[in-house]
Amino acid sequence: MNVLSAKNITKYFNTPEPFKVLKDVSFEVEKGEFVSVVGKSGSGKSTLLYLLSTMDTDYEGEIVINGSTVTNKSQNALAAFRNEHIGFVFQFHYLLPEFTLLDNVMLPALKLARRSKTEIEARSLELLDMLGLKGHERKKASNLSGGQQQRVAIARALINDPTIIMGDEPTGNLDSRNTKIVFDIFRDLAREKGQTIIIVTHDDEFAANSDRIIELMDGEVVSATK
Ligand code: ADP
Ligand code: MG
Repeated sequence: MNVLSAKNITKYFNTPEPFKVLKDVSFEVEKGEFVSVVGKSGSGKSTLLYLLSTMDTDYEGEIVINGSTVTNKSQNALAAFRNEHIGFVFQFHYLLPEFTLLDNVMLPALKLARRSKTEIEARSLELLDMLGLKGHERKKASNLSGGQQQRVAIARALINDPTIIMGDEPTGNLDSRNTKIVFDIFRDLAREKGQTIIIVTHDDEFAANSDRIIELMDGEVVSATK
C-alpha cells in the first residue's frame, strides 16, 4: 500500500540568487518501509524532507500522503494533518527544557484532543518505557543526556500514532550506541506496527541496514535502491 508519493517535485530558492534546489524528484514509499535519504551536504535532503513533511509548501509538483493531496492545502489544514499523520524528529531535539519528559511527550496529543488526558498519559508512559526512559518520566528534559533527550523526541513524535515518521539526521548528535538504539526503534516500528520511516542520514551503516536508500545529488534522485 502506497503511503507517500512525491511527483515531479521542483523547488527554487531565490536568495542570494535563483537556484534550483530540487529537480523533478519523484518516488513512492510503501506502508512499513524504512527508507534512508542520503547524499552530500547541500544536495537538498533537508529541503526535500521539509516538503514531504508539509512544513514547506513552496514547490512545484505534487505530494500525496495517505491518499490525500497535501499540495495546496491551507496552512491551518496542514498543521492539523501533520500533527495527526506525521511524526518528525529533528537533529536537535527541540524539547521544552523546563517541562518534564512526560509533559513533552503528551503535548502533541493534548493538542490533537482525540483521547482523554488519562489515556494520553498512559500511552506517553508506555512510549517512554519502550524507549528506555522508565523512571525518568517526571524529570525535566534539561536534566537528561543528549541520547536520552533524542529518545524523548522520538516518543513525542510517536504519541499520535503517525503513519509516517520522518527524521532529519535524528542520530547526527548521537554516539554509536545511541544510534543503534534509535535505529532499532525505527526498525521495530516499521516491522511490527507497519509505520513508514523516512530518515535523512549521513551514517552509511544506518542507511545500509534500512530497507531502501534514496540518494540525492545536486537536487536530483540518482539512485533509489531496494
Ligand atoms: P542537505 O540537507 O542535503 O545538506 P539542504 O536541503 O539543507 O541540503 O540545502 C540544499 C541547498 O539549498 C544548499 O546549497 C543550501 O545552501 C541551500 N539552501 C538551503 N536552505 C536555503 C534557504 N532557505 N535559502 C537559500 N538557500 C538555501
Ligand atoms: Mg540537511
